[in-house]
Amino acid sequence: MTYWEPQSETLSRSELTRLQFDRLGKTLERAAKSPYYAEVFKRHNIEPGSIRGLDDLRRIPFTTKEDLRNHFPYGLLTTPIKEIVRLHCSSGTTGNPIVVFYNQHDLAAWANLVARSMFAAGVRDTDVFQNICGYGLFTGGLGFQYGAERLGALTIPAGAGNSKRQIKLMQDFGTTVIHTIPSYLMRFRAVFDEMCLDPCKHTKLRIILTGAEPHSEETRQRVQKLFGVKAFNSYGLSEMNGPGVAFECEHQTGMHVWEDSYILEVVDPDTLEPVEPGKTGELVFTTLTREAQPILRYRTRDLTRVIPGDCPCGRTHARIDRIQGRSDDMFIIKGVNVFPIQIERILMSMPEVGNDYLIVLDTVKGADEVSVQVEVRPETFTGSMDALEKLRQRIVRDLHDEILVTPKVELVEPDSLPKSEGKAVRVKDLRNKGCLSQQ
Ligand code: ADP
Ligand code: ZN
Repeated sequence: MTYWEPQSETLSRSELTRLQFDRLGKTLERAAKSPYYAEVFKRHNIEPGSIRGLDDLRRIPFTTKEDLRNHFPYGLLTTPIKEIVRLHCSSGTTGNPIVVFYNQHDLAAWANLVARSMFAAGVRDTDVFQNICGYGLFTGGLGFQYGAERLGALTIPAGAGNSKRQIKLMQDFGTTVIHTIPSYLMRFRAVFDEMCLDPCKHTKLRIILTGAEPHSEETRQRVQKLFGVKAFNSYGLSEMNGPGVAFECEHQTGMHVWEDSYILEVVDPDTLEPVEPGKTGELVFTTLTREAQPILRYRTRDLTRVIPGDCPCGRTHARIDRIQGRSDDMFIIKGVNVFPIQIERILMSMPEVGNDYLIVLDTVKGADEVSVQVEVRPETFTGSMDALEKLRQRIVRDLHDEILVTPKVELVEPDSLPKSEGKAVRVKDLRNKGCLSQQ
């Protein structure tokens, strides 16, 4: 069997579009029951029944994070609390958290999408799946838990942290698949070394699922080399359920967006007009199966592009490229726009560089300055200052070629940079005496 749901995953474009607009009609009727959308529809003179195609959809205004915050907690609910069975909150990476509600139907549909995603990456009911991420309000915990159960895998709800215990669990139960955030993976691998273990030889690991924060292709390559298995990119956000919005299939050629459950638009973040097909812009999603809290034309602030062409796997759902970052991650230094991931790409392609880095923005004598603290690998410490200085200069040069600004680069010892509990903080912006997080 190749697909979790052969029929839904291989619909022709016209069938998919028909299904989307059929589901959109029901979604709009439901949305009209929430205080927030009732007001929006009234203000914009929108009759839910009059939206019949993509052009009509564009008459509905975008929904933003601010809108969700301003109508916290119950403004987007379409049903009485009696029908709601769970809530989750976003991680709050870029401000106050946002709450999302689910009824029984929503939870079942979400678990099915996660199961479909995991299946596409090659996970089967014979696998032992260890979920190494925070359970609780973060959707990555319970989202993958119920998805993996739906798929029929044996699940180990390990939670985050305690790397040695994680390794022990992997060995005791013969874990074949793990899910965790990318910034933890390399730290986790270092613990294998400390314990004189090799994941290739001393575990049965065969698949890594990773996402929830931006990471470059170079980081993925590193992870794959370190663990000796394939790592699949997983994209999702609480506002759209959580994980299971888009996922890589076994071909690793971009992430399939499950278009029977979400309408995808890519817009220019400044003009808010659709970008040309294949061009980078901001992802905008409309839910198609959520009942408790449908969200229409949600501006994710995540930037990427739709990959043109068909995937060899035969799934017809559009593929998106790696997330470049959030529009609010981008910083401007000396007039140049820079995304943290551009810096990460250069660093992670250098074998001498360790697992972590921190970008610090500051004002020095009235001018912006960017400095990058870079962890080096233990093997890079050969006792030769000269070799280290040469490495430092090479990093400065390569970063300059990428971001067109000369950064200050400081090499620091392995594992010496502060680690965050959840998603990694990549940028410290001292210019406003605030702290920007990469993701
Ligand atoms: P928060 O927005 O507070 O971090 P979430 O936990 O809901 O809350 O995280 C969703 C966000 O995480 C997405 O909008 C996106 O910015 C980021 N994200 C999720 N998956 C990926 C991925 N595979 N690659 C890059 N970024 C991702
Ligand atoms: Zn595919």
